[in-house]
Amino acid sequence: MRRVFTAENVFEAYIVRDRLIEQGIEAVVQGEMLTGAIGELPPDSRPSVWIRENELYDRAREVIETFENEVPSGPDWRCRNCGEDNEASFGLCWNCSRPPDRG
Ligand SMILES: [Zn+2]
Repeated sequence: MRRVFTAENVFEAYIVRDRLIEQGIEAVVQGEMLTGAIGELPPDSRPSVWIRENELYDRAREVIETFENEVPSGPDWRCRNCGEDNEASFGLCWNCSRPPDRG
């Protein structure tokens, strides 16, 4: 078993797992029960995706990178510096090159 991905939430973890299985890579989600668990587990634990066959790690990472590149990281955002609207995939404002302040 080898961890290939740490997800923001359990939904993302399952999407990644399904992608891997589609590609013939046997994968499982670990840590899915952490949300709402009290006590023994560290509060910052997030669900992760593991593959059963360590040799498939490189291929699994390729699948995950493809997934990450095609999914926007969030909703469209408006630049607080110049007020222009930017697509979620833009790391910097297209107009003034400032990073988004999503805080
Ligand atoms: Zn701007």
